[in-house]
Amino acid sequence: MTQRARIAVRGAVQGVGFRPFVYQLAHQLDLPGWVLNSPQGVFIEVEGENKILEAFVVRLQKEKPERSSIQSLELSYLDPIGMNGFEIRESENQGERTTLVLPDIATCEVCLGEVLNPKDRRYLYPFANCTHCGPRFTLIESLPYDRAATSMKRFEMCEACRREYEDPRDRRFHAQPIACPDCGPGLELWDGNGETLAAHHQALMEAAETIRCGEILAVKGLGGFHLVVDAGNEQAVTRLRRRKNREEKPLALMFPKLVDAKLVCEVSDLEERILLSPESPIVVLRRRSQRVEIAPSVAPKNPFLGVMLPYTPLHHLLMNELGSPVVATSGNLSDEPICIDEREATERLRRVADRFLVHDRPILRHVDDSVVRVLAGRELILRRARGYAPLPLHVGSAAPGILAVGGHLKNTVAVTVGDNVFLSQHIGDLETSEAYSAFRKVIASFQELYGAEPERVAADMHPDYLSTKYAADQGLPMISIQHHYAHVVSCMAENELEGRVLGVAWDGTGYGLDGTLWGGEFLLCEGASFQRVAKFRDFRLPGGERAIKEPRRAALGALHAIFGDALFEQVDLAPLDSFTGQELVVLRRMLAGTVNSPATTSAGRLFDVVASVTGLRQKCSFEGQAAMELEYAIEDEGDHPNYPFVLSSQTVDWEPTLRAILTDVENKVPVGKISARFHRTLAEIIVDVARQIDEKRVLLTGGCFQNVFLTERAIQRLEAEGFRPYWQQRVPPNDGGLALGQAVAASYLLARSEQDVPCSTRKAT
Ligand code: ZN
Ligand code: ZN
Ligand code: FE
Repeated sequence: MTQRARIAVRGAVQGVGFRPFVYQLAHQLDLPGWVLNSPQGVFIEVEGENKILEAFVVRLQKEKPERSSIQSLELSYLDPIGMNGFEIRESENQGERTTLVLPDIATCEVCLGEVLNPKDRRYLYPFANCTHCGPRFTLIESLPYDRAATSMKRFEMCEACRREYEDPRDRRFHAQPIACPDCGPGLELWDGNGETLAAHHQALMEAAETIRCGEILAVKGLGGFHLVVDAGNEQAVTRLRRRKNREEKPLALMFPKLVDAKLVCEVSDLEERILLSPESPIVVLRRRSQRVEIAPSVAPKNPFLGVMLPYTPLHHLLMNELGSPVVATSGNLSDEPICIDEREATERLRRVADRFLVHDRPILRHVDDSVVRVLAGRELILRRARGYAPLPLHVGSAAPGILAVGGHLKNTVAVTVGDNVFLSQHIGDLETSEAYSAFRKVIASFQELYGAEPERVAADMHPDYLSTKYAADQGLPMISIQHHYAHVVSCMAENELEGRVLGVAWDGTGYGLDGTLWGGEFLLCEGASFQRVAKFRDFRLPGGERAIKEPRRAALGALHAIFGDALFEQVDLAPLDSFTGQELVVLRRMLAGTVNSPATTSAGRLFDVVASVTGLRQKCSFEGQAAMELEYAIEDEGDHPNYPFVLSSQTVDWEPTLRAILTDVENKVPVGKISARFHRTLAEIIVDVARQIDEKRVLLTGGCFQNVFLTERAIQRLEAEGFRPYWQQRVPPNDGGLALGQAVAASYLLARSEQDVPCSTRKAT
């Protein structure tokens, strides 16, 4: 299939013969398109068959001019527009110049070579970096990017470093974080009270020993602390889970080298490229058979593992010393933001970590590891943080002066500067005061970095979100954006779509226009307006919020919608059996009187219903767990018929689906088959609604579309029926993408209000 690849390249790619190189490469592969040099970086668009586009990207990185270096490469696929020939476009020098803050970049090959070379003066030095790699966003205080405005200002360069720094021919020419063992930051190993046990390389060696002994090591890295344990030591992993208060959510792994990761997981060419990229995120990979020893508690009941490779010299040295994979999870307690300061860490992580491997280079802002999964042959960013933030996104255009505060879970914020949208790093769930204070800090630092003075603030409609309350307190005109509309606009924006589209926004829950909990929505969107053209039949969630943690509650609600009170006379129903008699009395009363049991159309909760009635899971220890397990349970033999459903008067009725599932459960059909049939049915529902609405362009967004089987199946079915599916790539489909949608939706509303149509802008009280 022909597609258009949009590639944004940043780094040392200007004035080094990069454009002629791109021109020649495109010619060799016979790809039409253009290349453009702008103050924001080098932009390339090429159009062609998938395979050739992929080859282009691989060769772009492998064969680039000698003096160039790529520090960031963002790739999105857009609709083809019928390009002819290849041109080098004139540089864009007009317009507002927004200086970019580059993200933190993984250690380059050359620096790594030095660190491992006994003859080099940076041998075993954990803070080596150069003009082409090393920390950026995490150590920049303010712009312009100069050593005096970074957290390296307290270290005075030695003679040797200064010579490199001042020599235009040196690869450390103007490398602001330049450092060496004589003048730069150093390592220390601390006990739980912050007493020094060892320093420099000795600290690293003893830290490695701590891990080998099965103890928990807190490591101060690039954007915050990791908690590290031996990934092969089940006892150590369970102790970490217990102390961190994290029951079952999968833990990320760091492998010494790519070859080690390949022993444990299947790694495709695309996945390999992502693992080795300067962004160096966590990549979700499918496990091979369990023969290599990874402790079962790392990712219980999960056929995938989150895998990353070392991305600083410190990580490389530690992993080299160990020679085997470790768990490297964010250094925090459940739900809190990641720790960045060593004194604070010994306080907050006192009960979690046995020892602390720290250094004296301050981390100015927390940046978590990013998470990427390959979906339908493309990258899908599930958590956008290290390596990607704070680069702007290409979204066509946005109105300036907007601050978008995001949602409640997986919060990110966005600011518009000129027509750029800068999306913040992942902040997290705004459930704790620590998270809320991190949220305010990120907003303040974004405004400072980019000199952005917001004139308007965009927020979710949910009156109880902390982010919404914050927005209302700013004394600025506030623009409320409906949750699922924001999801759809986020997807529209990154696919650069204009005009009418059908947005399929499926997630856990979001506040609806009617005050109920939406989550299984079909929105026909056109610019600033949208129409809810279809939705799932609603059902009640007894206990409200508690239903998110207990799929069995969603199941009772859905079954009650079918059977009414007679539900409680049924026998052999997994959700009923999981409650005590006493609990059922209360729940029965709730559902009868509709007390504390809000109605929802949520697709995410429907996954919970199916997980519960099939006996797969009744209670969750993290958001989305039941849906994830239902996806992982799939045994698809391709021949299962779909379940029935009814689509009428803008409502998708799942009653026939659920009845058929109950029959399958009764007939002891394996859960894997039921799950496959259920997923396929959902894809069919999307196709049917698209057909009824008669809209060719269908956008898949919301947390449910992190589900690879569902999304790939929906894409495949839509294409087969002549529709054109779109999904997210650079921005998460989950609530991490809301801020972008809010910023762009607010821009639409402003543009419309300029045409004298009333818009929902209102003055905050
Ligand atoms: Zn380097
Ligand atoms: Zn030095
Ligand atoms: Fe959502």
